[in-house]
Amino acid sequence: MALTGVQIFKLLPKTNCKKCGFPTCLAFAMKLAQGGIELSACPDVSDEAKSALGEASAPPIRSFALGTGATAAKMGGENVMFRHEKKFVNPSAIAVNIKDNDANLAATAEAVAGSEIDRVGQKLRIDAISIECASGDSATYEAAAKTVAEKAPGAAIILNCRDAAVIEAAAKAIADRKPLLYAATDETAEAMAAIAKANGLPLVASAKGLDALSALTEKIKGLGVEDIVLESGAESAKEIIEHNTQIRRAALKKSFKPLGYPIINSVIRDDSILETSIASVAIAKYSSIVVISSVEKWKNLVLFSQRQNLYTDPQVPMQVEQKIYEIGEPDKKAPLMITTNFSLTYFIVSGEIENSKVPSRLAVMDCEGLSVLTAWAAGKFTAAKIANFVNESGMADMVEVKELILPGQVAILSGALEDKLEGWKITIGPREANAIPTFLKGRE
Ligand code: SF4
Repeated sequence: MALTGVQIFKLLPKTNCKKCGFPTCLAFAMKLAQGGIELSACPDVSDEAKSALGEASAPPIRSFALGTGATAAKMGGENVMFRHEKKFVNPSAIAVNIKDNDANLAATAEAVAGSEIDRVGQKLRIDAISIECASGDSATYEAAAKTVAEKAPGAAIILNCRDAAVIEAAAKAIADRKPLLYAATDETAEAMAAIAKANGLPLVASAKGLDALSALTEKIKGLGVEDIVLESGAESAKEIIEHNTQIRRAALKKSFKPLGYPIINSVIRDDSILETSIASVAIAKYSSIVVISSVEKWKNLVLFSQRQNLYTDPQVPMQVEQKIYEIGEPDKKAPLMITTNFSLTYFIVSGEIENSKVPSRLAVMDCEGLSVLTAWAAGKFTAAKIANFVNESGMADMVEVKELILPGQVAILSGALEDKLEGWKITIGPREANAIPTFLKGRE
């Protein structure tokens, strides 16, 4: 049964040493009770407390990383059925499948390595490569695993092979990349679990239906493998929704440990549009790893955007850092504009400044991630606060003429701002960002 924050607090060292990143042990305990952090974040917790808290504080869905290093994709650790209840924590990893004897193996690995894009300030990419054992030959498969490991150094690797005799050499060869073994069935559980255990690797449990899957995860866990991923045999979009929802509900609402693991869905289809649609369903409904068939920019954009939107915190607006951004190579005569730090506002405004080709400075003020009008209405983008920001940021030293261009939507602030900013001229900029290029070019 889950413990409350206060129950957890009683078992902590109570030194408030802050090593966990929280100001007090109580704050840490509260976060642990919500499942937002793991017990291991407190380095001083006693063994006695560990054993008392270990099981109770474990997230209802086991959490571990797919791959290694900075680009490893964390999976599991989810605490809610619906995003609006709190937030979803670990975005679905997207994996591209390639056959081990495909002549394009190296090129596909390189395409995955180069798939990263920047969207609204976040780096988005294909996270993993699934190497399908089509050759049935251990040496070919091992060579393919090594090629992928070399060509895509940041990508996680999934060894998509159900034959323990074939997968073993590849698993050993790239064990330092922590590949996911995909997969063990009831018949191969012992052999696959032995390879997973010997190399410290996560293992997919694959069965038809949730009863058989629960029995299989129990069996694999009993064989000493802790990091397990579920494959339920769901194929159609309807089955994916049904199975994944039942799995999530069993783990969260019933604390049913045999299904408390991340889910993998392979959605490969001949028809790319259909495949993307089903991948989109899997991302929306709790899949931790979605396996697709190809790297295509349009497909990436659809899936990346959906995933990003689902996994942002609905209670925290996306923000960029407060600072003076230089766009182009502005000299001291370059225009100086100001806006708020809501990510979308920043990216739209900076994009339009770039479009204008007029080198400029954009002062972005911390308004807790609110857009211009909302920040103004909330009293966070007022003349007094803007004046403070201008004075403290040293903007005056960056420009020859002290002129600040205010978003047209808050033109009402210009008088008060001129009163507070001695020596500054306040100019009203466009109301809408798409008018910025014309506005800036018209000043030249
Ligand atoms: S690291 Fe442990 S002891 Fe220190 S404040 Fe955090 S919970 Fe308390």
